[in-house]
Amino acid sequence: MKNLKIMQKDLQFNWHPCTQMKDHEFLPLIPIKKAKGIYLEDFEGNRYIDAISSWWVNLFGHSNRYINKKVKKQLKKLEHIIFAGFTHKGAIKLSKRLSKLTNMDKVFYADNGSSAVEIALKMAYHYYLNKGEKRELFFSLKNSYHGETLGALSVGDVELYKDTYKPLLIKSIQLPIPKDKTDKEAKKALKECESYFKKYHKQVSSLIIEPLVQCAGYMKMHSPLFVKGLRELCDKYDIKLILDEIAVGFGRTGSMFAYEQAGIKGDFLCLSKGLTGGYMPLSVVLTTNEIYREFYCDYKELKAFLHSHSYTANPLAISSANAVLDIFEKKDIIKKNRKKSKYIWNRVQKYKQLKNVKEIRQTGMITAIEMIDYPFEKRAGLEVYKYGLKNGVLLRPLGNVIYFMPPYIIKYKEIDKMIEVAYKGIKCLEDR
Ligand code: PMP
Repeated sequence: MKNLKIMQKDLQFNWHPCTQMKDHEFLPLIPIKKAKGIYLEDFEGNRYIDAISSWWVNLFGHSNRYINKKVKKQLKKLEHIIFAGFTHKGAIKLSKRLSKLTNMDKVFYADNGSSAVEIALKMAYHYYLNKGEKRELFFSLKNSYHGETLGALSVGDVELYKDTYKPLLIKSIQLPIPKDKTDKEAKKALKECESYFKKYHKQVSSLIIEPLVQCAGYMKMHSPLFVKGLRELCDKYDIKLILDEIAVGFGRTGSMFAYEQAGIKGDFLCLSKGLTGGYMPLSVVLTTNEIYREFYCDYKELKAFLHSHSYTANPLAISSANAVLDIFEKKDIIKKNRKKSKYIWNRVQKYKQLKNVKEIRQTGMITAIEMIDYPFEKRAGLEVYKYGLKNGVLLRPLGNVIYFMPPYIIKYKEIDKMIEVAYKGIKCLEDR
């Protein structure tokens, strides 16, 4: 009853993201009272395993003792400072660490993933402009997702989010992607991609990609060879490469960053989400000295990158990001994750028995179960979502794709529960 009352109050005022609000006439909105580790708890004492890391942000559990301690400490010292003309120690420390981790030279801060994408796109365009070339086109990949602001949406390709706003968007071309994770498909797609590079390269400043997993694009996965091949094409045709690791960075794919598996480096690297362990809004765009130098000159030349956000490099957010990197340094998270993802992979094999499962795929700590092509009005995913909630697991299917992207601290028995509940949820749909 408590939940219902809070929901009613909420719906009087709040307009929730990515939601048809009318759904809440039949779909309860769940007020969360507190969260600890991988568990969320509502106002009636129901607990839910957070199988999606709260929109893919949480790495080390909710209310993590260590991160809490670090943020509290920061709170006593400095909560915010304008980052133009001023700086603070946390930002210097974090930038140094990120630069070392990624072998990139410069860090530009923002406060959410979409803004990071906007920054990278603007920088890439502006870089060529400062060099005397006007390149007004962007390349991105079919089925990609880079955020909801207009620039980010322009390079995205998920119809559901993009189509309505098409008349408002900037110019971009979506390149073909591999059908699956095999090298064979990667090679085939690369060949097709090259024809676009040949035709448009003089008008294109950059190609933006999500290395290895297109998360919001229904968890589609490709081989590292594809990423490597795209890097080579960018080099061959003088186009900058933007790596959007907002969702896949910080260990999600089995390495600290997904691009490592392709043995390449980007010209820009966008990070957010896991950067603060899911604590606070923060994002970064890392780039190289080669890019930076094109902006560095006397003010009167008017080549500076005059982009800003009020909360750029917020000290509280940065304290949580530094705490996250401490945890990565202290514990061999990546190695442990590999063991866990293997375990998950073995467990999900039983989904093959279900008639309505089409494909199972995995990259590191991201595992996706694709059901058959239920028509979208059937909202099959929503049925699994509801089943999950009733049985103590927060799943948030993307269309007909159910996926697991849990916080890394999930225990083996909790993995078992998560997989069992999703299995039964899908099975309920089998004969419908
Ligand atoms: N890029 C990718 C790959 C993402 O998955 C997301 C968010 N899901 C974004 C960009 C946008 O980030 P934000 O929601 O913080 O704006």
